[in-house]
Amino acid sequence: GRYFYGPIDDLVNIGDLLQRAEASGRRVFEVLDAPVSVTERPGAQPLPKPVGGEVRFEAVTFGYDPARPVLEDVTLTIPAGERVAILGESGAGKSTLLSLVTRGYDPLSGRVLIDGVDVRDVTLESLRTCAITMPQDTFLFHDTVLENVRYARPEATSEEVEDALRAAHALDFVRALPQGLKTVVGERGVRLSGGQRQRLAIARTLLARPAVLLLDEPTSAVDAESEALVVAALDDLMRGRTALIVTHRLSLARGADRVIVIEGGRVVEDGPPAILRTRNGAYAALERAAQQLDGTLPDASPDRTTL
Ligand code: ATP
Repeated sequence: GRYFYGPIDDLVNIGDLLQRAEASGRRVFEVLDAPVSVTERPGAQPLPKPVGGEVRFEAVTFGYDPARPVLEDVTLTIPAGERVAILGESGAGKSTLLSLVTRGYDPLSGRVLIDGVDVRDVTLESLRTCAITMPQDTFLFHDTVLENVRYARPEATSEEVEDALRAAHALDFVRALPQGLKTVVGERGVRLSGGQRQRLAIARTLLARPAVLLLDEPTSAVDAESEALVVAALDDLMRGRTALIVTHRLSLARGADRVIVIEGGRVVEDGPPAILRTRNGAYAALERAAQQLDGTLPDASPDRTTL
């Protein structure tokens, strides 16, 4: 959610941060993940490897203003490898929930754990290497496609970058660019569509191999034309990883192992989509509404009032 700081502010901020950060390797994600400076605890340790990717919220309460909690007493265990769709009205706290995993913010009370380790005890580098957030729209540097994707893992070979692009359903369009992988994109570079940028972001994330994926409305900036490709690429990206997907797309919710509905900062529904649809709750209402809308939820305009 970008309520108080619009997308332009975000870009200015990110640009500013990037100038200061050496734009190398995983720091890209670190920088993109860090709207607020949380500090690393003295003696923080890397997450023990291999990272399984279980995510647990334990009685988590959080508010940007401590007097007004956005999330209240949220307890959730997401087993390693589970794909969870997070639904809820605008402002319900979905993006906030994601940001707590990578310590964009820390809970006011309660704990967030990965593999049973409190994220506040983990080095930020290790945390943001194992848990990666893919935003609605992705920042591309003024650089080649190759380097934009390789930022995720500087030691990756061109072949590995190509493999990631292929898996992200991006290789065909990249090869059709004027200089192929050497085409300069980003600011003042070749303009890419939202769907193309998102597939580059997916390739970048594939290369980083995170155990935990945090996807914030990953198809909302995507044109209808490439949506199917993005959805297919996301599907491959999420396979074998823990994934928390904030989405207004019913197709993404249906494909999840589990759907969580957040309302007023609390989890009000939690279960496999096939079971929730037989109940009389918000998810079932959404399914009914979607059937009338041809499988597509009302779009993600800022004033939407859909679930
Ligand atoms: P959306 O579907 O619109 O993205 P959301 O469910 O993701 O909504 P959040 O973005 O988590 O909701 O926001 C939850 C509440 O916290 C909202 O009332 C929002 O205005 C507020 N909020 C979000 N980000 C900030 C921030 N950086 N500073 C202060 N308040 C914020």
